[in-house]
Amino acid sequence: MNYQRSSALFTEAELVIPGGVNSPVRAFKAVGGTPIFIEKAKGPYLFDVDGNQYIDYINSWGPMILGHGYEPVVKAIIDKTKSGTSFGTPTEIETKIAELAVSMVPNIDKIRFVNSGTEACMSAVRLARGYTGKEKIIKFSGCYHGHSDSFLIQAGSGAVTFGSPNSPGVTEGTAKDTLLAKYNDIEHVEEILNANKQAVACIILEPVAGNMGCIPPKKDFLNQLRNLCDKHKVLLIFDEVMTGFRLARGGAQELYDVSADIVCFGKVIGGGLPVGAFAARNDIMNHLAPLGSVYQAGTLSGNPLAMAAGLAMLEELNGDSEIYNRLEEKTKYLHDGLTKVLSANDVQHTINRVGSMISVHFCDTEVMDFETAALGNNETFKKFFHGMLKEGIYIAPSAFETWFIADALSYEDLDKTIDACNKVAKSL
Ligand code: PMP
Repeated sequence: MNYQRSSALFTEAELVIPGGVNSPVRAFKAVGGTPIFIEKAKGPYLFDVDGNQYIDYINSWGPMILGHGYEPVVKAIIDKTKSGTSFGTPTEIETKIAELAVSMVPNIDKIRFVNSGTEACMSAVRLARGYTGKEKIIKFSGCYHGHSDSFLIQAGSGAVTFGSPNSPGVTEGTAKDTLLAKYNDIEHVEEILNANKQAVACIILEPVAGNMGCIPPKKDFLNQLRNLCDKHKVLLIFDEVMTGFRLARGGAQELYDVSADIVCFGKVIGGGLPVGAFAARNDIMNHLAPLGSVYQAGTLSGNPLAMAAGLAMLEELNGDSEIYNRLEEKTKYLHDGLTKVLSANDVQHTINRVGSMISVHFCDTEVMDFETAALGNNETFKKFFHGMLKEGIYIAPSAFETWFIADALSYEDLDKTIDACNKVAKSL
């Protein structure tokens, strides 16, 4: 494949944008080579500026669950644009999407919209602190909750890809209030709670981790966390930025039948436009300004175009009774196919999957937390990434990311992906 134009555009971008990108993982630093500049996308395919076509497994890092350029979503955005793009006043569509989200997700009475997953998690933690009157939070190594200061402590995703899970610029004062636990290790969480009695406001986690590859919660882990939170009067925050509206209509809470106190959303809820949200029961949400004293705001929050895209997306997901079964079946088909060809070629691997989130780890141990995720062979991953790219298969340019499956993928696309993997596996 020829990447001449991407290369030229990247050189130009590097002069005026740090590292040439507006979010670090896009720079391909972890895998080397030229970042690909995308011109357009439709259904399951990306088309780059050099005329190459790819089957897309990033799907904008999750939002494009129905595929790119999904007609009802595009139409909703275009129609809305004709009435103006932002007013900074309440609009009817904000209530419509809020009503729909509240009807789809368990245990929430009210939801507030923001502009990103980072904002959603940051605001949820402030609300938890305001509600409980306590200051410390527990997060898990390898989980990523956006780039707000309190979360850049052993963070996953781009932070770990670039070797800076603890970022300079985060003050010691902030860092000391973030306590770190091991994912899937309930005893460790209990130890931390016992050592910090009456000090912890909330535990925040990805109920299925997606930022150290895909890591499912061990059986009962989420339930045990719920029980510990009740015992210690700590709020449980599910960061469902990846899992929300993806693993089930009601996200991980529905899938695992565990209730969180606050739930954070992003990605799918915006239909590809910049949206995040956080939601909880009335007794918690009523602490937010202007009802309560916990301040949180946003000039473009609830922006009409973003709400129109999000509403169109949620209506499709809510109205299609088969969508989650189809996503599950397609991802399982891919999972089985990849397992078969990697095994046939003697490539050491572990594949983790929950619903339409899947990741390939190049190690043969069980991958269940940050430490085991780091055992994957990065040199093999780099070769795999570039090999797949040459075959027209676009996966995330880091071993610490998840592949997202879109309903737009056909079984023919999945077969092409499995064939490509078979070919690439021979060279690993
Ligand atoms: N939480 C999780 C679980 C995420 O995966 C991400 C982003 N990948 C975020 C929060 C932050 O969202 P955003 O990039 O929209 O700020």
